[in-house]
Amino acid sequence: MSLRKEMLRKLIFSCKNASALLEKQEHFKLGKVERVKLAMHKSVCSACRKFEKKNKEFGDALSIALKEEENSKKGKKYLSEVTKSRIKLKFQK
Ligand SMILES: [Zn+2]
Repeated sequence: MSLRKEMLRKLIFSCKNASALLEKQEHFKLGKVERVKLAMHKSVCSACRKFEKKNKEFGDALSIALKEEENSKKGKKYLSEVTKSRIKLKFQK
């Protein structure tokens, strides 16, 4: 029983470490140990679950904007309607 407790204490690390991993996973692939630790922490910590959700929403918005930017660089053929109308607006001013 005490061994189990000891294991849990090692797995459930601090929010500071968890948030660092949450930010890291936005840019890098986490190692197996890191992913397990993060999952364990999130299972007991609602604050970090909320933080991850917010982080993800921000990341999604960012990747949509980047994709649009990427498409606009590919030339007229791939311009989205949104980008097209933005460009039109720019020229109308
Ligand atoms: Zn936490």
